This record gives sequence, structure tokens and C-alpha cells, in this order.
Amino acid sequence: MDTVIKNITLIDGTGHEPIENAVVAIREGKVLYTGSASGWSDGAEENITYLDLRGKFVLPGLIDCHVHLSGSGEADSQFQVPTGQMALKILKNAQRNLAAGITTVRDLGGWSELEFDVRRAIQRGEFAGPRMCLAGRFISITEAGADYYIGMYRVADGVDEVRKAVREQVKHGADLIKMGVTGAVLVESGVPGTTHFNKDEVHALVEEANKFGKRVAAHAHGIDGIRKAVQAGVNTLEHGTYLFQDPHVILHMAQHGIFLVPTLKVGWDIILAKDSKIPLWMMAKNKATQGEAALSLKMAYEADVPIAMGSDVGTPLNFHGENALEVYWMEQAGMSRMDALVSATGNAARALGWEAWLGTLEEGKVADLIVHDKNPLEDLRMLADKTSLQFVMKDGLISACHAGHQLPKELFAKNYLSI
Ligand SMILES: [Zn+2]
Repeated sequence: MDTVIKNITLIDGTGHEPIENAVVAIREGKVLYTGSASGWSDGAEENITYLDLRGKFVLPGLIDCHVHLSGSGEADSQFQVPTGQMALKILKNAQRNLAAGITTVRDLGGWSELEFDVRRAIQRGEFAGPRMCLAGRFISITEAGADYYIGMYRVADGVDEVRKAVREQVKHGADLIKMGVTGAVLVESGVPGTTHFNKDEVHALVEEANKFGKRVAAHAHGIDGIRKAVQAGVNTLEHGTYLFQDPHVILHMAQHGIFLVPTLKVGWDIILAKDSKIPLWMMAKNKATQGEAALSLKMAYEADVPIAMGSDVGTPLNFHGENALEVYWMEQAGMSRMDALVSATGNAARALGWEAWLGTLEEGKVADLIVHDKNPLEDLRMLADKTSLQFVMKDGLISACHAGHQLPKELFAKNYLSI
């Protein structure tokens, strides 16, 4: 059975101009054709379900390259819950992403390997949920953050321990490895500018990860740590707050295709919070670094460093389902509206190394798509507006929609969610 979506405006995620009066044809979960209606013919095929979505906007399902499924945006972020409850929380948060049109998430710090169990259950079709690219635990030196986030961290000091920590994540099924190269903003005693891992440890981690064909995401704020990470050959730089301090490092990232994942929303959510439960130290640290993080993104963008969207949802007041507001904050920091959108589609897939089959609506790629009532290119905040979002397809099947829909039954996944 084929599905043909017609009379739409197509924004395909590559950065090309939108195509009006477009068609998306889907066969066996993959894109068979996208483009102008004039280039499409049904041919001899008889078994076709048509979806006439006149006036609607169709985009690829969004990809968030930095989430924490184990956090739900608790104000103090020092949460401890029993294991069974945590597994359900991870599943619930994963579903909140899918129901908001985030069809793929990259989790950069899970909880006691429970996210792997959740992913298996979703892959078996027992529950609706997004595609999950998982790092397992956040590999860190001995530091206070490991006491805060007990199930999220894997403490490793010295080259041998670092190698062992990588092997553990690979054993559990990690798609990539996450390392904390500098201190953190969201740890009370953390000093974001301070380097944590030494050069030999960073190099050993990247070498060990690459040996298993795994990419590396480096959490780094301070410029010395950023420099160590990019010189060791990490694939994505998370946060990158003080990147602006060294244009040579920015140039190196552009030349080597190392992605910046700026995570601006997390800071804005705390700074703009009306919630008095946000600890004072957390407020002060975010106010001190937010302008610098935005400047670093602007400089990297202007220097042609590839940029991928990561919202860091799960952190305080940064709720699953609101991820797409990150795209708006990236535009506010200086990216063009279309480039900000591509950072959550085509470029995000490249940051994951999954671009051969994911991220844009092009022939042969998986048919993950979202349908909006309003044009997100008029206001990127629309991407997070659930009144505009009509339905979500994953693998060519409807995985989330509103109650009272009039969509054909045969297009639904076995399990689907309410928007
Ligand atoms: Zn994070």
C-alpha cells in the first residue's frame, strides 16, 4: 500500500526553498517521491491511500540532538526516584517528544541503563515512542555532579578507567559516547570554565569509541576543554559556551566538520523563570553565561561551523515537548530562520551520522514527518505549538494526532499518541 500526501507546502529539511502544491509519496515506511505535484504520477499503482491536506505545511520529523529522558524539568534537578518509576518516567518523556513532532532524540546521559530497556520496548512495538540515539552514561572525572545525578554518571579517572567506561557503554548498546570535558553550569560547585579530563584521557576516550565505530559528544564550556576535545576529534561539541574566546578553534571545527550543539533554551528557561524554586546559584550561573553562549553560536555560525539543534530538555523548567523552541532561540542568536530549522532536520541527522536514511524528506529516506497548520517559517515558535501541529508520522505511519481526527484508519501505527 502506498500513501500519497498532496496539496501541501513542502519544507524538506535540506534548506531548499519551500515547494507549494507538493506531493509526498510513501511506500513501506520510506519516501518514494517528494517534490512538485507536476513531477508525480500514480502510475499503474491501485492500492493508494490519498491524504489531501490542502493548505498544510509538511516538514521532516524534528531531531533533538541533546535530551535527558530521565529528567522532567524538575526545578532543583536533584531527583531520585525508584528504578521502576524511573523506567516509566523515561518512557513518558520519550512519548512527550514524539507527540510534539520530535521523531528522533539523542539522549546524552540516561539513567542506570533503563533507557536501553525503554528503547527495546519501543522497537518491539509495545509502546509508541521516538527513535532513540543513546549515549548511556555521561563519562566524567570524580566530581560533585556524579553525586547529584547518581544514575546518569560513570566516573572514570585515568586512561584505563576511561577505556573501560567506554566499553561498558558499548556493551549496553550505546550509539555514541558522551564525555564531560569541563565543569557544568547545572552543578552547584561546577566551574564551567574548568577543564576536567586531561589530554591523554580525552584522546583515549575518542580512540576507544572510534575503535567500536562510535561517535563522541563532548560536554565542554571552557575554551581549554573545548580545544582539547576538538583536537582529539570529537564529533559534536555540546554547549560550547566560551568558544568565542578562540577563533582558531572555531576555524578548526569548521574545517573538520565538528558540530556545535549550543543548547540555548536551557539557560533561557532558567533566566526567564517565574518559578521561585530555581536555586539562586543556578540563576546566577545561567545569567553569567547566557550571553556568551549566544555569542559563541553566532561566531561559529558565521564561520561555517555545522550547527545541530539540542534543547537539553529534562533540565530545570526545560520540558519535554517544548524542545522546538530551541530553534527559535538559535534564530534569536543570529542564525537565519531556514538554517535554524535545518539544524533540527538535515544537519541534526548529520550530527548523529544517520544522514543516509534520516533527517530530510528525500527519496529513499524514512518517512518521518510532521504536518502543521501554520507556516513555521513565519515564526519558528510555531514548531512547538500543538494547536498548529496536526499529526506526526514515523516510518510512514501516524504515531500522534489530535482527538477527533478524520484520518484514514489504515495509516495508523499499532500504538499512537494524543497530541
Ligand atoms: Zn545535557
